[in-house]
Amino acid sequence: MSGRDERPGEGPGTTDPRGVGPGVERQLGVGPAGAEPATVRADEAGRRPTGGDPVRHPSPLLDDPVLEGRAITRDYHVGGGLFRGAKVVQAVRGVDFAVPRGKTLAIVGESGCGKSTLARIITLIDPPTSGTLLIEGKPVEITGRRPSRELRSRVQIVFQNPHGSLNPRQKVGHVLMEPLELNTDLPAAERRDRARAMLEKVGLLPEHFDRYPHMFSGGQRQRIAIARALMVNPSILVLDEPVSALDLSVQAQVLNLLADLQKEFGLTYVFISHDLSVVRHIADEVMVMLRGEVVERGSREAVFADPRHDYTRTLFAATPVTSLQSIRARVERKASRRAASEGRFHAS
Ligand code: ADP
Ligand code: MG
Repeated sequence: MSGRDERPGEGPGTTDPRGVGPGVERQLGVGPAGAEPATVRADEAGRRPTGGDPVRHPSPLLDDPVLEGRAITRDYHVGGGLFRGAKVVQAVRGVDFAVPRGKTLAIVGESGCGKSTLARIITLIDPPTSGTLLIEGKPVEITGRRPSRELRSRVQIVFQNPHGSLNPRQKVGHVLMEPLELNTDLPAAERRDRARAMLEKVGLLPEHFDRYPHMFSGGQRQRIAIARALMVNPSILVLDEPVSALDLSVQAQVLNLLADLQKEFGLTYVFISHDLSVVRHIADEVMVMLRGEVVERGSREAVFADPRHDYTRTLFAATPVTSLQSIRARVERKASRRAASEGRFHAS
Protein backbone atom coordinates (compact mmCIF):
# COMPACT_ATOMS: atom_id res chain seq x y z
CA MET A 1 0.00 0.00 0.00
CA SER A 2 2.91 2.32 0.70
CA GLY A 3 3.56 2.76 -3.00
CA ARG A 4 0.12 4.37 -3.40
CA ASP A 5 0.54 6.82 -0.61
CA GLU A 6 2.11 9.46 -2.80
CA ARG A 7 0.84 12.97 -3.03
CA PRO A 8 -1.08 13.57 -6.20
CA GLY A 9 1.20 14.58 -9.01
CA GLU A 10 4.23 13.76 -7.02
CA GLY A 11 5.72 10.84 -8.78
CA PRO A 12 8.63 8.93 -7.35
CA GLY A 13 11.74 11.03 -7.69
CA THR A 14 9.90 14.35 -7.86
CA THR A 15 11.57 16.40 -5.20
CA ASP A 16 9.57 19.59 -5.46
CA PRO A 17 5.87 18.96 -6.04
CA ARG A 18 5.29 22.61 -6.81
CA GLY A 19 8.10 22.84 -9.30
CA VAL A 20 5.98 21.48 -12.13
CA GLY A 21 3.10 23.96 -11.93
CA PRO A 22 2.75 27.38 -13.51
CA GLY A 23 4.36 30.23 -11.62
CA VAL A 24 1.12 31.55 -10.23
CA GLU A 25 0.58 28.51 -8.02
CA ARG A 26 4.07 28.75 -6.72
CA GLN A 27 3.58 32.36 -5.73
CA LEU A 28 0.28 31.58 -4.06
CA GLY A 29 1.68 28.68 -2.17
CA VAL A 30 -0.81 26.37 -3.77
CA GLY A 31 0.24 22.84 -3.78
CA PRO A 32 0.77 20.25 -4.86
CA ALA A 33 0.65 21.42 -8.41
CA GLY A 34 1.36 18.30 -10.40
CA ALA A 35 -1.22 17.18 -12.94
CA GLU A 36 -4.12 15.43 -11.27
CA PRO A 37 -5.93 12.90 -13.40
CA ALA A 38 -9.69 13.35 -13.36
CA THR A 39 -10.30 9.81 -12.29
CA VAL A 40 -7.88 9.71 -9.41
CA ARG A 41 -9.21 7.83 -6.39
CA ALA A 42 -8.29 7.50 -2.79
CA ASP A 43 -6.03 4.56 -2.27
CA GLU A 44 -7.54 1.48 -0.73
CA ALA A 45 -7.12 2.74 2.77
CA GLY A 46 -8.33 6.14 1.64
CA ARG A 47 -5.14 7.63 3.02
CA ARG A 48 -2.71 10.16 1.71
CA PRO A 49 -0.39 12.62 3.37
CA THR A 50 -2.20 15.95 3.42
CA GLY A 51 -1.49 18.30 0.52
CA GLY A 52 -0.75 22.00 0.72
CA ASP A 53 -3.16 24.66 1.86
CA PRO A 54 -6.36 24.83 -0.16
CA VAL A 55 -6.78 27.64 -2.65
CA ARG A 56 -8.97 30.22 -0.97
CA HIS A 57 -10.38 33.00 -3.13
CA PRO A 58 -11.57 36.09 -1.29
CA SER A 59 -15.25 35.88 -0.47
CA PRO A 60 -17.48 38.74 0.60
CA LEU A 61 -20.27 36.41 1.69
CA LEU A 62 -19.13 34.65 4.78
CA ASP A 63 -20.56 36.79 7.58
CA ASP A 64 -23.36 35.39 9.72
CA PRO A 65 -23.22 31.79 8.59
CA VAL A 66 -26.35 29.75 9.20
CA LEU A 67 -24.35 26.58 8.77
CA GLU A 68 -20.74 26.07 9.67
CA GLY A 69 -18.33 23.18 9.85
CA ARG A 70 -14.98 23.32 11.57
CA ALA A 71 -12.31 20.70 10.94
CA ILE A 72 -14.89 18.02 10.21
CA THR A 73 -13.51 14.51 9.77
CA ARG A 74 -15.15 11.16 9.20
CA ASP A 75 -13.37 7.82 9.30
CA TYR A 76 -14.95 4.54 8.32
CA HIS A 77 -13.63 1.27 9.61
CA VAL A 78 -14.04 -1.35 6.95
CA GLY A 79 -13.11 -4.94 6.30
CA GLY A 80 -11.32 -6.91 8.93
CA GLY A 81 -11.77 -10.47 7.64
CA LEU A 82 -10.00 -13.57 8.86
CA PHE A 83 -6.60 -12.72 7.40
CA ARG A 84 -6.78 -8.97 7.12
CA GLY A 85 -6.99 -6.25 9.70
CA ALA A 86 -9.70 -3.63 9.55
CA LYS A 87 -8.82 -0.63 7.44
CA VAL A 88 -9.63 2.97 8.06
CA VAL A 89 -11.09 5.01 5.22
CA GLN A 90 -10.65 8.70 5.89
CA ALA A 91 -13.68 9.83 3.93
CA VAL A 92 -13.62 13.45 5.11
CA ARG A 93 -10.49 15.04 6.54
CA GLY A 94 -10.54 18.37 8.28
CA VAL A 95 -13.12 20.19 6.18
CA ASP A 96 -14.16 23.74 7.06
CA PHE A 97 -17.12 25.52 5.53
CA ALA A 98 -19.57 28.31 6.25
CA VAL A 99 -22.79 29.12 4.43
CA PRO A 100 -24.58 32.44 4.90
CA ARG A 101 -28.36 32.49 5.20
CA GLY A 102 -30.21 32.29 1.93
CA LYS A 103 -27.11 31.34 -0.07
CA THR A 104 -25.92 28.21 -1.81
CA LEU A 105 -22.69 26.41 -1.13
CA ALA A 106 -21.87 23.98 -3.91
CA ILE A 107 -19.63 21.03 -3.11
CA VAL A 108 -17.95 19.64 -6.20
CA GLY A 109 -15.72 16.67 -6.77
CA GLU A 110 -15.57 13.27 -8.35
CA SER A 111 -17.21 10.15 -7.01
CA GLY A 112 -15.75 9.00 -3.70
CA CYS A 113 -14.30 12.35 -2.61
CA GLY A 114 -16.52 12.48 0.47
CA LYS A 115 -19.48 14.63 -0.65
CA SER A 116 -22.25 12.33 0.55
CA THR A 117 -20.42 11.64 3.78
CA LEU A 118 -20.35 15.36 4.42
CA ALA A 119 -24.03 15.60 3.44
CA ARG A 120 -24.96 12.98 6.03
CA ILE A 121 -22.96 14.78 8.69
CA ILE A 122 -24.61 18.12 7.93
CA THR A 123 -28.05 16.49 7.99
CA LEU A 124 -27.29 14.87 11.37
CA ILE A 125 -27.80 11.41 9.92
CA ASP A 126 -24.25 10.41 10.71
CA PRO A 127 -21.95 12.01 13.33
CA PRO A 128 -18.48 13.23 12.35
CA THR A 129 -15.48 11.44 13.85
CA SER A 130 -14.20 14.82 14.99
CA GLY A 131 -14.79 18.48 14.37
CA THR A 132 -17.63 20.86 15.08
CA LEU A 133 -20.84 21.43 13.20
CA LEU A 134 -22.75 24.62 13.97
CA ILE A 135 -26.34 25.11 12.96
CA GLU A 136 -27.65 28.65 13.28
CA GLY A 137 -24.60 29.47 15.35
CA LYS A 138 -25.06 26.66 17.86
CA PRO A 139 -22.60 23.78 18.04
CA VAL A 140 -24.23 20.39 17.57
CA GLU A 141 -23.42 17.94 20.31
CA ILE A 142 -21.96 14.96 18.42
CA THR A 143 -21.40 12.60 21.28
CA GLY A 144 -24.06 11.39 23.62
CA ARG A 145 -27.70 11.97 22.87
CA ARG A 146 -29.33 12.00 19.48
CA PRO A 147 -29.93 15.52 18.20
CA SER A 148 -33.34 16.86 19.18
CA ARG A 149 -36.36 16.67 16.91
CA GLU A 150 -36.30 20.44 16.65
CA LEU A 151 -32.64 20.51 15.59
CA ARG A 152 -33.06 17.69 13.10
CA SER A 153 -35.93 19.48 11.44
CA ARG A 154 -33.71 22.53 10.78
CA VAL A 155 -31.76 20.56 8.17
CA GLN A 156 -33.37 18.37 5.54
CA ILE A 157 -31.94 16.41 2.62
CA VAL A 158 -32.95 15.55 -0.92
CA PHE A 159 -31.18 12.63 -2.54
CA GLN A 160 -30.30 11.96 -6.14
CA ASN A 161 -32.70 9.12 -6.59
CA PRO A 162 -36.32 9.92 -5.81
CA HIS A 163 -37.30 6.28 -6.50
CA GLY A 164 -35.29 5.23 -3.51
CA SER A 165 -36.36 8.01 -1.20
CA LEU A 166 -40.12 7.79 -1.78
CA ASN A 167 -42.07 4.88 -0.36
CA PRO A 168 -43.91 3.35 -3.35
CA ARG A 169 -46.84 2.31 -1.16
CA GLN A 170 -47.51 5.79 0.16
CA LYS A 171 -49.72 8.21 -1.70
CA VAL A 172 -48.10 11.57 -2.31
CA GLY A 173 -50.32 13.24 0.27
CA HIS A 174 -49.11 10.83 2.90
CA VAL A 175 -45.50 11.26 1.81
CA LEU A 176 -45.86 14.96 2.51
CA MET A 177 -47.85 14.68 5.73
CA GLU A 178 -45.62 12.08 7.33
CA PRO A 179 -42.82 14.46 8.44
CA LEU A 180 -45.47 16.54 10.22
CA GLU A 181 -46.81 13.45 11.94
CA LEU A 182 -43.34 12.53 13.11
CA ASN A 183 -42.10 15.97 14.05
CA THR A 184 -45.05 18.09 15.10
CA ASP A 185 -48.28 17.86 17.04
CA LEU A 186 -50.36 19.48 14.33
CA PRO A 187 -53.90 18.13 13.91
CA ALA A 188 -54.69 16.05 10.83
CA ALA A 189 -56.66 18.77 9.07
CA GLU A 190 -53.77 21.18 9.40
CA ARG A 191 -51.30 18.59 8.15
CA ARG A 192 -53.48 18.02 5.11
CA ASP A 193 -53.80 21.73 4.35
CA ARG A 194 -50.08 22.25 4.59
CA ALA A 195 -49.34 19.28 2.35
CA ARG A 196 -51.75 20.55 -0.30
CA ALA A 197 -50.22 24.00 -0.15
CA MET A 198 -46.73 22.58 -0.51
CA LEU A 199 -47.78 20.48 -3.49
CA GLU A 200 -48.72 23.67 -5.23
CA LYS A 201 -45.49 25.41 -4.20
CA VAL A 202 -43.44 22.78 -6.00
CA GLY A 203 -45.51 23.05 -9.18
CA LEU A 204 -47.73 19.99 -8.76
CA LEU A 205 -51.52 19.84 -8.81
CA PRO A 206 -54.12 19.26 -6.08
CA GLU A 207 -55.23 16.02 -7.72
CA HIS A 208 -51.70 14.64 -7.33
CA PHE A 209 -52.35 14.33 -3.61
CA ASP A 210 -53.95 10.88 -3.94
CA ARG A 211 -51.56 9.40 -6.48
CA TYR A 212 -48.64 7.05 -5.92
CA PRO A 213 -45.02 8.02 -6.67
CA HIS A 214 -44.72 5.57 -9.58
CA MET A 215 -47.37 7.56 -11.46
CA PHE A 216 -44.98 10.50 -11.80
CA SER A 217 -42.05 11.34 -14.03
CA GLY A 218 -38.53 11.59 -12.59
CA GLY A 219 -38.72 15.37 -12.41
CA GLN A 220 -42.10 15.29 -10.69
CA ARG A 221 -40.85 12.72 -8.20
CA GLN A 222 -37.95 14.98 -7.38
CA ARG A 223 -40.48 17.79 -6.83
CA ILE A 224 -42.28 15.50 -4.37
CA ALA A 225 -39.02 14.77 -2.55
CA ILE A 226 -38.29 18.51 -2.34
CA ALA A 227 -41.81 19.19 -1.04
CA ARG A 228 -41.43 16.52 1.61
CA ALA A 229 -38.11 17.96 2.75
CA LEU A 230 -39.70 21.39 3.12
CA MET A 231 -42.71 20.24 5.14
CA VAL A 232 -41.00 20.69 8.51
CA ASN A 233 -39.93 24.20 7.62
CA PRO A 234 -36.15 23.68 7.58
CA SER A 235 -33.71 26.55 7.23
CA ILE A 236 -31.09 24.41 5.47
CA LEU A 237 -31.60 22.03 2.58
CA VAL A 238 -28.86 19.62 1.56
CA LEU A 239 -29.27 18.56 -2.04
CA ASP A 240 -27.11 15.55 -2.86
CA GLU A 241 -26.91 15.36 -6.67
CA PRO A 242 -30.60 16.32 -6.87
CA VAL A 243 -30.76 16.61 -10.66
CA SER A 244 -28.06 14.16 -11.71
CA ALA A 245 -30.56 11.45 -12.65
CA LEU A 246 -32.77 13.77 -14.71
CA ASP A 247 -32.82 14.74 -18.38
CA LEU A 248 -31.20 18.06 -19.14
CA SER A 249 -34.44 19.95 -19.81
CA VAL A 250 -35.97 18.60 -16.61
CA GLN A 251 -32.79 19.49 -14.72
CA ALA A 252 -33.29 23.10 -15.72
CA GLN A 253 -36.89 23.08 -14.47
CA VAL A 254 -35.97 21.58 -11.12
CA LEU A 255 -33.08 24.04 -10.72
CA ASN A 256 -35.48 26.90 -11.40
CA LEU A 257 -37.87 25.52 -8.83
CA LEU A 258 -35.06 25.30 -6.27
CA ALA A 259 -34.07 28.89 -6.98
CA ASP A 260 -37.68 30.06 -6.52
CA LEU A 261 -38.11 28.14 -3.28
CA GLN A 262 -34.83 29.45 -1.94
CA LYS A 263 -35.98 32.99 -2.49
CA GLU A 264 -39.47 32.44 -1.14
CA PHE A 265 -38.43 30.63 2.06
CA GLY A 266 -35.00 32.18 2.60
CA LEU A 267 -33.46 28.71 2.39
CA THR A 268 -29.78 27.98 2.70
CA TYR A 269 -28.59 25.27 0.31
CA VAL A 270 -25.72 22.86 0.33
CA PHE A 271 -25.77 21.67 -3.25
CA ILE A 272 -23.68 18.63 -4.05
CA SER A 273 -22.80 17.84 -7.61
CA HIS A 274 -20.12 16.41 -9.80
CA ASP A 275 -21.54 18.48 -12.69
CA LEU A 276 -19.97 21.91 -13.07
CA SER A 277 -22.56 23.16 -15.51
CA VAL A 278 -25.19 22.72 -12.81
CA VAL A 279 -22.98 24.22 -10.13
CA ARG A 280 -22.29 27.24 -12.26
CA HIS A 281 -25.99 27.88 -12.47
CA ILE A 282 -26.88 27.51 -8.81
CA ALA A 283 -23.88 28.25 -6.58
CA ASP A 284 -22.93 31.34 -4.65
CA GLU A 285 -19.90 29.69 -3.10
CA VAL A 286 -18.00 26.74 -4.50
CA MET A 287 -15.92 24.24 -2.59
CA VAL A 288 -13.88 21.70 -4.54
CA MET A 289 -13.11 18.44 -2.78
CA LEU A 290 -10.50 15.84 -3.55
CA ARG A 291 -10.11 12.69 -1.47
CA GLY A 292 -11.85 14.05 1.57
CA GLU A 293 -10.15 17.43 1.55
CA VAL A 294 -11.01 20.85 0.22
CA VAL A 295 -8.52 21.88 -2.45
CA GLU A 296 -10.12 25.12 -3.61
CA ARG A 297 -12.92 27.38 -2.48
CA GLY A 298 -14.34 30.79 -3.23
CA SER A 299 -17.22 32.63 -4.80
CA ARG A 300 -18.64 31.08 -7.95
CA GLU A 301 -17.34 33.99 -9.98
CA ALA A 302 -13.82 33.66 -8.65
CA VAL A 303 -13.58 29.91 -8.99
CA PHE A 304 -15.09 29.78 -12.46
CA ALA A 305 -13.12 32.77 -13.74
CA ASP A 306 -9.83 31.70 -12.27
CA PRO A 307 -9.61 28.06 -11.17
CA ARG A 308 -6.17 27.68 -9.63
CA HIS A 309 -5.73 24.23 -8.22
CA ASP A 310 -4.74 21.69 -10.82
CA TYR A 311 -7.53 19.40 -9.79
CA THR A 312 -10.12 22.16 -10.26
CA ARG A 313 -8.67 22.87 -13.67
CA THR A 314 -8.91 19.23 -14.58
CA LEU A 315 -12.57 19.23 -13.60
CA PHE A 316 -13.18 22.31 -15.71
CA ALA A 317 -11.33 20.84 -18.66
CA ALA A 318 -13.63 17.83 -18.51
CA THR A 319 -16.75 20.01 -18.76
CA PRO A 320 -17.51 21.13 -22.29
CA VAL A 321 -18.05 24.87 -22.50
CA THR A 322 -21.00 24.32 -24.80
CA SER A 323 -22.85 22.32 -22.21
CA LEU A 324 -22.29 25.10 -19.67
CA GLN A 325 -23.61 27.67 -22.08
CA SER A 326 -26.54 25.65 -23.28
CA ILE A 327 -27.81 24.73 -19.84
CA ARG A 328 -27.59 28.33 -18.74
CA ALA A 329 -29.38 29.56 -21.86
CA ARG A 330 -32.09 26.95 -21.43
CA VAL A 331 -32.58 27.82 -17.80
CA GLU A 332 -32.80 31.51 -18.59
CA ARG A 333 -35.28 30.93 -21.40
CA LYS A 334 -37.50 28.90 -19.11
CA ALA A 335 -37.30 31.48 -16.36
CA SER A 336 -38.32 34.32 -18.61
CA ARG A 337 -41.12 32.30 -20.16
CA ARG A 338 -42.29 31.53 -16.68
CA ALA A 339 -42.11 35.07 -15.51
CA ALA A 340 -44.09 36.09 -18.58
CA SER A 341 -46.91 33.62 -18.08
CA GLU A 342 -46.85 33.65 -14.27
CA GLY A 343 -48.93 30.49 -14.46
CA ARG A 344 -48.51 27.31 -12.50
CA PHE A 345 -46.09 25.01 -14.18
CA HIS A 346 -46.06 21.29 -14.00
CA ALA A 347 -44.34 20.17 -17.13
CA SER A 348 -41.57 17.99 -15.77
P1 ADP B 1 -19.07 10.83 -2.80
O1 ADP B 1 -20.44 11.13 -2.31
O2 ADP B 1 -18.22 12.05 -3.04
O3 ADP B 1 -19.07 9.94 -4.00
P2 ADP B 1 -18.80 9.31 -0.33
O4 ADP B 1 -18.93 10.31 0.75
O5 ADP B 1 -19.97 8.48 -0.63
O6 ADP B 1 -18.27 10.04 -1.66
O7 ADP B 1 -17.58 8.36 0.01
C1 ADP B 1 -16.30 8.83 0.42
C2 ADP B 1 -15.39 7.67 0.75
O8 ADP B 1 -15.87 7.01 1.92
C3 ADP B 1 -15.34 6.60 -0.32
O9 ADP B 1 -14.03 6.09 -0.35
C4 ADP B 1 -16.33 5.57 0.14
O10 ADP B 1 -16.01 4.30 -0.32
C5 ADP B 1 -16.19 5.65 1.65
N1 ADP B 1 -17.43 5.35 2.36
C6 ADP B 1 -18.60 6.04 2.26
N2 ADP B 1 -19.54 5.50 3.07
C7 ADP B 1 -18.95 4.46 3.69
C8 ADP B 1 -19.40 3.48 4.66
N3 ADP B 1 -20.64 3.51 5.16
N4 ADP B 1 -18.52 2.54 5.05
C9 ADP B 1 -17.27 2.52 4.57
N5 ADP B 1 -16.77 3.38 3.67
C10 ADP B 1 -17.60 4.35 3.22
MG1 MG C 1 -22.33 10.74 -3.24
